[in-house]
Amino acid sequence: MTQAYDYDLIALGAGSGGLSIVERAASYGQRCAVVERGAIGGTCVNVGCVPKKIMWFAANLAHVVEDAGGYGYDLSKNGFDWSQLIAKRESYISGINSWYHGYMKELGIDEIVGEASFVDANTVVVNGQQYSAKHIAIATGTQPGLPDIPGVEYAITSDGFFELEQQPDRVAIAGSGYIAVELAGVLNSLGSQVTLFLRKNHVLGEFDSLLKTTLFEALEKSGVELRTQCQITGIVRGDSGLLSVEDNRGLGLENVDQVIYAIGRVPEAGTLNLSNAGLEANQRGYIETDFYQCTSQAHIFALGDITGRAPLTPVAIAAGRRLADRLYDNQVDRHLDYNLIPSVVFSHPPIGTIGATEEEARAEFGDRVSIYQTRFNAMYNAISGHDVPTAMKLVCLDDEEKIIGCHLIGPAIDEMLQGFAVAIRMGACKKDFDDTVAIHPTSSEELVTMRRP
Ligand SMILES: Cc1cc2nc3c(=O)[nH]c(=O)nc-3n(C[C@H](O)[C@H](O)[C@H](O)COP(=O)(O)OP(=O)(O)OC[C@H]3O[C@@H](n4cnc5c(N)ncnc54)[C@H](O)[C@@H]3O)c2cc1C
Repeated sequence: MTQAYDYDLIALGAGSGGLSIVERAASYGQRCAVVERGAIGGTCVNVGCVPKKIMWFAANLAHVVEDAGGYGYDLSKNGFDWSQLIAKRESYISGINSWYHGYMKELGIDEIVGEASFVDANTVVVNGQQYSAKHIAIATGTQPGLPDIPGVEYAITSDGFFELEQQPDRVAIAGSGYIAVELAGVLNSLGSQVTLFLRKNHVLGEFDSLLKTTLFEALEKSGVELRTQCQITGIVRGDSGLLSVEDNRGLGLENVDQVIYAIGRVPEAGTLNLSNAGLEANQRGYIETDFYQCTSQAHIFALGDITGRAPLTPVAIAAGRRLADRLYDNQVDRHLDYNLIPSVVFSHPPIGTIGATEEEARAEFGDRVSIYQTRFNAMYNAISGHDVPTAMKLVCLDDEEKIIGCHLIGPAIDEMLQGFAVAIRMGACKKDFDDTVAIHPTSSEELVTMRRP
């Protein structure tokens, strides 16, 4: 260790990014600390991927009970105990928190509790105590955003959703991104009445059109009320405690238990006093880096959501680990390739997506693009009697038909994409898919048997 500093590396934020870099750096013998003002594990563990997926599993079970009738079972739902599920979910999460505390101790990583801000380019202050380091990694993530409208204090965000001790009967959700559609799907499946307020005419703005339209239809069919071109303009709380929602279309919504905003997240750099370290956030508040996670200061790095790039847990983890490999294991060119990152939306049904959408590919490559597409009702649903769409699209380039995009929606898609993502990253062409023997009977076999229309 460089003696002049308290640590070789301090990570600011103990979320996916911060934990991954200190963990890897410590494995190379570096003296590390991580500063966290909230719960260890950050967004993913406490108010993101983990509790969300547990709610999604619960919501899926509601569908399974309905589907079972089609298979000859005489089952009925005799209630759903929200508080029991929440208690189990939170106990599972506190198990992860405890595990992390133990793991940090085992690795010799110091946990510093509190909010960090820069004193100078090598020093941060937390609760009045200063800590210096040769390297500092900023991984402070993002926070859910709220609009500036009257009555917004009565609304909650995804953070508040995970605090709900009782299931809301009637919910208004504002937003069209993946968190909005995931929460809408969960609440609707568990029996809440859901109205989704969409600023435009669609959900999942940046996604391939096939996914957007198929999910829109599926949400509508499942009973979620979709209000397009509709923005909440005010929230009023009545004497009963229930909320009334006003919107720009004058439709209104009465007797609402919860208004949930999922309109995007805002970077968490404001508390850091970046200027003391000679850094500044960009106009949108993110800390920009190059592909080696370097900020404008050679020894200060940023990773994860705070960089404004691909805000996903595995991205933050991969960036952190690769950075530690580069800094402390002499892997001089090690860095994360931000192309072809697969991701899943845990909607009902789920979505898997990687690479260019058809719209992006056509804009960039014109008629060099070819599309393979299919839509069907999976065998499982043919028997269950519940018509849940499955749709798939491959976006291919040039005569060799290199696959540059793959977009899937349907039951079990969430566990399907990972393996295909490996092939696509390795440069697979349509012929490689065609030459792969199908696994029958599955939905995934459709991906290797698609023909041009
Ligand atoms: C509802 C929801 C569902 C999601 N689902 C998925 C999913 O299914 N799959 C997926 O890959 N991703 C998902 N994500 C995104 C994922 O959670 C983030 O991409 C990931 O957590 C980013 O990690 P990070 O380390 O950059 O930031 P975070 O995990 O947000 O960690 C940042 C930490 O820094 C702390 N902090 C901030 N400022 C300071 C300071 N000044 N001093 C000390 N500590 C500070 C914060 O308290 C926080 O704990 C979801 C997010 C949400 C909100």
